[in-house]
Amino acid sequence: MNKPGIAIHGGAGTILRSSMTAEKERQYTNALSEALHAGYDILQKGGSALDAIEAAVSSMEDCPLFNAGKGSVYNYAGKHEMDASIMWGKDISAGAVTLIRNVKNPVALARAVMEKSEHVFLCGEGAEEFAKKINLPFELDTYFDSEFRLAQWHEAQKADGTFLDHNVNVSDKKFGTVGAVAIDIDGNLAAATSTGGMTNKRFGRVGDSPIIGAGTYANNKTCAISCTGHGELFIRSVVAYDISCLIEYKGLSLAEACHEVVMKKLVAIQGEGGLIAIDKNGNIEMPFNSEGMYRAMKNQDTELIAIYK
Ligand code: ASP
Repeated sequence: MNKPGIAIHGGAGTILRSSMTAEKERQYTNALSEALHAGYDILQKGGSALDAIEAAVSSMEDCPLFNAGKGSVYNYAGKHEMDASIMWGKDISAGAVTLIRNVKNPVALARAVMEKSEHVFLCGEGAEEFAKKINLPFELDTYFDSEFRLAQWHEAQKADGTFLDHNVNVSDKKFGTVGAVAIDIDGNLAAATSTGGMTNKRFGRVGDSPIIGAGTYANNKTCAISCTGHGELFIRSVVAYDISCLIEYKGLSLAEACHEVVMKKLVAIQGEGGLIAIDKNGNIEMPFNSEGMYRAMKNQDTELIAIYK
């Protein structure tokens, strides 16, 4: 029997202690703790890594603090377009959705694509139609709207830029993409990522989060990874799969592989962000090259919730 473990993230970016109040810090810590425990409780009861990561990611999708599900940012056209992906390391099956609107829990749809369709990646209307067919819950636009996100979008429009949601200096609130990785007692690994993308992104833009191998990867032979950061650079670096490859083909440890990719390769092309990773032995790494990353991990020995460097 393996020791179960889980790690989650709520996004990376310019998250500074100086711009955080005690109240906000408490809200984030509580939200991370809730998601962490939602996942770990399942693992502890002998549940699968897949169920654990879906529970953790859904919990963050339902929380307006994070840029996924309910808290998704606005794109260039003033709409919320969401992306998500999930991967099961046991048989390297995977599911992903991109450019979806109004689906309450994108990670649940990604999982359904993996388990209930013959495909891996569904986009836009086709993905939404599939979600309706299998009766997944939808929400009105108003469910995803918030004054804070609107202000953030207006700021990004003024600057004519695309921003990692924590880097827009609209208010001192910071939000982020979410993800989870876990190992269960059977030694199976799983990873999931869910996001509203980048503020003021062009509509139709796809980031790394729904791309298997870039934002998400899991393989029982190596590790499970979920990324957060500037998606374009993460796609170009094929970040999640690169870490798995460094372990599989070069014999690097999880820590060495994470360091190589996050602190060297990504830094060399100004790819800001980070990731969470767990390997087949239950080792956990949560590296980032930005100012901060909302993150948490738990196994039988340790529980950690952290925000800053
Ligand atoms: N990686 C996400 C994207 O580019 C953004 C994030 O991690 O916050 O869509």
